[in-house]
This record gives sequence, structure tokens and C-alpha cells, in this order.
Amino acid sequence: MRDFVDLLIHGETVVTMNGDREQISNGAIAVNGGRIVAVTTLADATERFEPTATLGGPGTAVIPGLINAHQHLTGDRLLRSTIPDNLGLNEALMQWALPSHAAHTGDLDELSATLSLIEGATNGVTYTVEAGTVAHPARVLAAFVAVGVGGTLGSWGWDVGDGPHTGTVNEVLERQKASLDLATDHPSVDGWVTLVGHDLMTDELVAAASELALARNTRLTFHISPSTGDAEAYLARTGRRPLEHLAALGVLGSHLLIAHAVHIDDSEVRVILDHDVAVASCPWAYLRLGQGITQSFRHQQLIRGGGRLALGCDSENAGDSIDILLAARLFAGLVKDSTGDPTLYTAKQALALATIDGARALGMEHEIGSLEVGKRADVVVVDTTGPTWTPRPHDPVIGLIWASDGRSVRDVVASGRIVVRDGMCTGIDLASLAAEAQEVHSQLVSRCGAHTRNE
Ligand SMILES: [Zn+2]
Repeated sequence: MRDFVDLLIHGETVVTMNGDREQISNGAIAVNGGRIVAVTTLADATERFEPTATLGGPGTAVIPGLINAHQHLTGDRLLRSTIPDNLGLNEALMQWALPSHAAHTGDLDELSATLSLIEGATNGVTYTVEAGTVAHPARVLAAFVAVGVGGTLGSWGWDVGDGPHTGTVNEVLERQKASLDLATDHPSVDGWVTLVGHDLMTDELVAAASELALARNTRLTFHISPSTGDAEAYLARTGRRPLEHLAALGVLGSHLLIAHAVHIDDSEVRVILDHDVAVASCPWAYLRLGQGITQSFRHQQLIRGGGRLALGCDSENAGDSIDILLAARLFAGLVKDSTGDPTLYTAKQALALATIDGARALGMEHEIGSLEVGKRADVVVVDTTGPTWTPRPHDPVIGLIWASDGRSVRDVVASGRIVVRDGMCTGIDLASLAAEAQEVHSQLVSRCGAHTRNE
């Protein structure tokens, strides 16, 4: 008598990313109730299970769902790859990003987040850390639900300067609490305390935000030091570099995921490792914005020191593609190039950064990041029959990282539900959003950066 299961996924190779990094030839993943109930051979699974649906088959590799640890879901998407790439950061921000953001209604926030999450999902991303540029978190939550993938929800929080959504410490905290509350009924979406970071938070705010995250048993994320500006600002204000100052405030710990931490010094590397702070590295954004990752690639020191790192894609005008496999390839290349040592950082390590090690950075390694019994059924089926895959490499992970990217992703399962089939999002039809997205894009272009377009 065979057990009924919701779904059986067959991979010519199943790349489990479990502790032994086991790969199973002609493997199968059985899924029931949104969870993985077996990771075994196809022959064994066929004997044991009666599935309602099947996925995969010959010519596929099956990998865990990918993790995007830093993604702006609103603000940039509707100006995707449109902010000219010959502008200084301040000019891009003042003339394009801020006016665009100010024009965003709730409808546009939902449209923006939906488009970003569809792109991520079709490239295999099943869990996204929202970077916190959200004016309407309920609409971003609606986008997560519609696309069917998991992630974090956070409100834009800052209490320095006069940008949009600046508030007092109490106002910012109240918005944070409201976002945390919104997510409580959604098992795949987690409320995270989310600040802008940089030098746009008072000591009082960051300390209170850290306390709130700990009290609510969740996590805190913010930006620090993608460029040299944050260190200059902190040194001028506090006499200390950013991470040394935050350590002195007592806000560093394993509950914190910092985006970037590119321009840090030796002592800050030590501080991050000593406090078990996680870091989201967004290598394409640093290249696209000229932020100097090739001069200060501390992330490989953090990895070698046993630190917790994950990969992010940042925003659609800072790295642009929401493709974690592309980010993993670049990261691996940067490690090899910056050390001059080709023996360092294999494709398997890069895939781990996009999966199980990324999950560890998010404090979610018991839930996502590998194909193991009991975990959330976040599974990606990669098509290994196209030109990129002919002939198929002996180890598909090397092909996946060095020769392929998200375009090889065929089907995606998130929490046991098929959210992408044959490259198309099943929850929402992209074509139904395209006309509206194009019209909004034209309107935003006409009101932003009129004098600074690329000609
Ligand atoms: Zn960011």
C-alpha cells in the first residue's frame, strides 16, 4: 500500500545541499502538506508513494529553492534598468529614486513587488528578504501571497533627515510593529524589523529596533557601508567606525543581517565575526554603482573566518537582474580573483551561499536552504537539456554556477505549491500586468530625472 503525497519531483540529479552535500542520481523528492517527506531514489519513491502531481523528469537537476537576502521590492522596479548608468549616486537618488518613490501609491507598491517577486521566482528564488523601502507593507504582503513565495516584510524606517517616511523613534517603531503584526498570519512571510541604516538612524532608534526584534523573536536588517561614506559619517559623529559604534551600543548579534558591509576595516571584520552578525553581499550592485568591491572585498575574509553570509540582488537599478545564480557566479569569481588562488571557492560553495549558507545567515537553516526531510518544500527544477547544458557536465553544480543562470530554471515549488511551471508564474499572469507596468514606467520617466537621461 503506497502513501498518498501531494507531489513527487524527479531529478536526473538531485542536489540536496545537505550536510554531506549528497547528490542522488535519478533522485526524487516527495512533498506533502507543504513539507519534504522523503529524499530518495526515484525507484524507492515510486514503490512508496502515490503522488497527486509530478514534476521534473529526465534532463533535469533538482536543487533547493534559492535565497535572495537583500531585495528592494518597491521604488526601483517600475524604473527597472532606466536610471542612467552615468550618474553619481546622489544625482541618481535625488533626481530619480526619490521622486519615483514619492509617486508610489499602494497600487504601485503592489505592482512593483509583484513584478520583482515574479522575476525572482522564475529564476528560482523562493525566499526574499525585503530591504525595507515599503510605504505600503500590506500591499507588498499581497504580492508575496499572489506570487506564492516566502520572504520578509519590513517598513522603511529612519529618523534622521527629511526624506519620505522619516519619523520620530516612536513613529518608526509603531510602523515596525504594524508590519510585524501584518505577517503573523502568513506562514511563509516573516515580519522583520527593517531600518534604512547608513547614518540615517539615531543611536536611540537602532537600540530600540534591536530590542524590538529580540522581544518579538525576529530579526533586524539595515544597510551599512556599501561605500566609504558611512565610515566617514560615523567617524565624524561618534569618533568610531560604524560597526565599532554599533557594537558599543550593544545592538550587534546573531539577530542582525547587515546589507553590504563592503568598506569595513580589519577591526570591523573582527567585530562582525565576534558578534555572529550576518551579511548580505550584493556583488552586482557594487560593480554597477562603482562602489569599490574590487578594492575592498572583505566578504571573502568573513567567509574564511566562518562568518554567516548570504547573497542579494539589491535593486533593479543596482545590479538589476534578480538572479541569485548570477550573483553566486560573480561572488565565486571575486574570491578567486581577489586572492589570486583558483583553488578557493568552488561552485558547490557558491551554490551553498545561495541556499543552505544563505539560510544560516537568515537564521532559517532548520527550515529552508536544503532538500531534507521535514523542511519546507522549496524546490527548483533546472532544465539541463538546452544549449548551455550540452554536453551535460559530469557535476551539474559546476555547470549551474559557471555556465548557467536563472534562465535554466523551469519549475519552482514554494512551500509545496508549484509557483512556476515551464518558466511561467502560476499565481499571476505576467502578461496581465505588462501594459499597466509600461504605462506607469512612461509616467515615472517623464516626471523623474528629465535633464539627466542617457542620450
Ligand atoms: Zn539596499
